Amino acid sequence: MTLCDRVILLTGLLMLGLLAMIPIVGFICERRWWNGGKCPNDGIPWRYFDTDSQGGRGYTCDSCDKTIWVSYPLIDNHPNGGKGCCK
Ligand SMILES: [Zn+2]
Repeated sequence: MTLCDRVILLTGLLMLGLLAMIPIVGFICERRWWNGGKCPNDGIPWRYFDTDSQGGRGYTCDSCDKTIWVSYPLIDNHPNGGKGCCK
């Protein structure tokens, strides 16, 4: 294996590692937005209002009209795992 091969291999592994990071970072961001189920501005529980075509759940705060979208499962424990709509 030449030095060039090694550099190419390492670069590839690094790229794969970065790609693997993207969903993890997304999950952490959504968890932060979810804020334990409460609006960070006033501590009022989110009100579920819609599920988009990708299965993301939309939540809004009735007090300050802040809106968040959660796409990962396990964050909001939404019934159906976010698939389909349910009230
Ligand atoms: Zn609020």
